[in-house]
Amino acid sequence: MIKEIREPLIFEISAAGKRASELPQLDVPAKKDLLAGVPLRREIDDFPEVSETEITRHFTRLSTKNYCVDMGIYPLGSCTMKYNPKINERLAAHPAFAASHPLASADLVQGSLEVLKKLEGCLCEIAGMDAFTLQPAAGAHGELTGMMLIRRALEARGDARKYVLIPDSAHGTNPSSAHICGYTVKEIKSNEKGTIDLASLEQEMTEEVAALMVTNPNTLGVFESDICRIAEIVHAKGGFVYMDGANLNALTGVVRPGDMGIDVMHINLHKTFSTPHGGGGPGSGPVGVKKELVPFLPVPVIVEKGGRYTLDFDRPGSIGRVRAYFGNFGVIVRALCYILTLGPKGVREIAEFAVLNANYIRKSLEGEFYLKYPTASMHECVFSDKFQKEFGVTNLDISKRLIDFGMHPPTMSFPLIVHGALMIEPTETESRRDLDMFIDAMKAIAKEAKENPEILHAAPHVTYVSRLDEVAAAKFPVLRWEKKA
Ligand SMILES: *Cc1c(COP(=O)(O)O)cnc(C)c1O
Repeated sequence: MIKEIREPLIFEISAAGKRASELPQLDVPAKKDLLAGVPLRREIDDFPEVSETEITRHFTRLSTKNYCVDMGIYPLGSCTMKYNPKINERLAAHPAFAASHPLASADLVQGSLEVLKKLEGCLCEIAGMDAFTLQPAAGAHGELTGMMLIRRALEARGDARKYVLIPDSAHGTNPSSAHICGYTVKEIKSNEKGTIDLASLEQEMTEEVAALMVTNPNTLGVFESDICRIAEIVHAKGGFVYMDGANLNALTGVVRPGDMGIDVMHINLHKTFSTPHGGGGPGSGPVGVKKELVPFLPVPVIVEKGGRYTLDFDRPGSIGRVRAYFGNFGVIVRALCYILTLGPKGVREIAEFAVLNANYIRKSLEGEFYLKYPTASMHECVFSDKFQKEFGVTNLDISKRLIDFGMHPPTMSFPLIVHGALMIEPTETESRRDLDMFIDAMKAIAKEAKENPEILHAAPHVTYVSRLDEVAAAKFPVLRWEKKA
């Protein structure tokens, strides 16, 4: 691979008088002030002046500098970076949806309301819950909404309680959501299988505990096989079980959280049910509840009667709105399209292929990379750099070297209970061929670590910039071009 040439800023290739297109000489009198009243951008000094070829090449070259799921495997653990079928994009962009006004009266947007209600129904069936709200804008927002519902339900019983229990394998958003909702977080230890230790749970679960927040399968990619017993322990003390359902990709069509004793959960539509993500959204984190929590759901609730859809704001127990309008509607359209095009059999195959692919990677790479928890994987497997550390090679070196092989690195250094973690989630959309290319690259890197560690320390070699100061890049981004004096 050749090293790319540096792409200058468009300001740097500008030269006064260059034009993208030139019109022929006028053969009629010129008319002045044609642009009077049009807001022209005069505030940028030295607005770039470039030719059409330069504009086209500049932006085309920039567009090739990003990695995307349309290009290859994107095995970021916990992120479920699956391929997004183009039909979902086409439908979300359809003017009937994209141009529908969020403030239009219910009478004028019956079709859009039907989409919302249909998706609520599909999610209830897939998750085994009694109702869903589609308002939350992301997973973490769903967690906060879910915890607010729990707090409201407990307040209605007379005591909001004080603590929320969270296992040490949890996603970092769980403790922050519980904390923002006014709860004190207590950590529950994992056992050697990587699941919740029942004895610790029994000890910590008191009548001062509002809820247990559990991710299932957890961030080690391990299924909490004692989940029914876990729910019994929490319910016996009057608490609620919140499930972080961001990893529902491993369960769809196979088991239903509602049948495992879960009272409240969120689903990340942007992980399990399509939508391009990474780079900041938009996402969608619908929250599903059991009957007892339905009265507290955010308003408005969409009500269907005889094929007509109306909005019910008259719900005195509601926690209120958590998001303007109806949430991120385009993401909702994509999710419904994904579910309907796959059908019940296809929805089950999401989980079957996701789990098969993760286990294929785990079996193919065990021995080459250290596996702290050798339990069978669900949707992802978590290796670490323990073997490579002997040669002075870290998970960062391994990740950076994968870029040279034309692949996106896995999630690194998370979950925190695996030191030097490499968390790999292939998703169901990778073919055997793509999985084998990834496995071959990882094996080649393990070999290099032993024989030629320097090549890893200096990776990536094929990108214009190699190792960035990642803290400075995030904290002091250069967003404005200053003309050199
Ligand atoms: C992604 C994820 C979240 C957070 O979802 P966002 O949409 O990024 O807010 C929470 N929990 C788990 C387990 C996740 O994988």
